[in-house]
Amino acid sequence: MVIDFHAHVYPDKIASRAVDNIEEFYGLTMQGKGTVQELLESGRAGGVDRFIVFSAAAVPGQTGRINEYISSVCREHPECTGFGTLHPDVPDPGEEIERIVSLGLKGLKLHPDMQKFNIDDHRMMKIYSLLEGKLPVIFHTGDYRYSYSHPARLRAVLEKYPKLTAVAAHFGGWSVFDVALEHLLDPFCYFDISSSLPFLGKKRAVELIRIYGSRRFLFGSDYPMWDPGQCLREFLELDLTDSEKENILYKNALEILKEGEPL
Ligand SMILES: [Zn+2]
Repeated sequence: MVIDFHAHVYPDKIASRAVDNIEEFYGLTMQGKGTVQELLESGRAGGVDRFIVFSAAAVPGQTGRINEYISSVCREHPECTGFGTLHPDVPDPGEEIERIVSLGLKGLKLHPDMQKFNIDDHRMMKIYSLLEGKLPVIFHTGDYRYSYSHPARLRAVLEKYPKLTAVAAHFGGWSVFDVALEHLLDPFCYFDISSSLPFLGKKRAVELIRIYGSRRFLFGSDYPMWDPGQCLREFLELDLTDSEKENILYKNALEILKEGEPL
């Protein structure tokens, strides 16, 4: 089984605008269109069985609509598991978390750089205390241009909320992979491998996976930035053992989703 733990999807009508915005934000050309149909078709053709899908609210008013949209995608497509979005300025985060749970969403995805808040912002601390022991959170982490998602900020959160199940995307710090290693080796969190291999190179990627341990890593594509099948081929070329690959491709993901061993 292969689970892509990091995929962004948008309603068809706004997908091209969303993709343009992300291209502009990162100065990178995206490989995909950002639609559910393309994700599922190209992912399946490339050997991916399941997808964790989400989208970030740039402003608090978008939160409810996005969560409903992600939930509807998952109702239509059983191979998708949805994570919700939240914003530090939603009027009642506790109520929104209840709604996220009742919509059948299995976690939260936060993008501090795009949503413009510090991971360790005091408004977020209340939210983490509500999420601890309840829902896992994927954090976009790391950007050499900003400090919002700095790995040190995530460390501060993990030290304060040790029972929070956190996934630090992009090896814990996109474009600042070694800074992540300074801060995230010790407090426990998971990592995903998305949007990292082209920058790290295969040798360093394997070194980092072994330093942190394969039990902490998840496979992810960061679709529509990259094509999931292409990411899977690149991942499978890494010089890792079969059991390390199994951990990363699905076992750790099932543990986070509390689904236990696959059939
Ligand atoms: Zn992302």
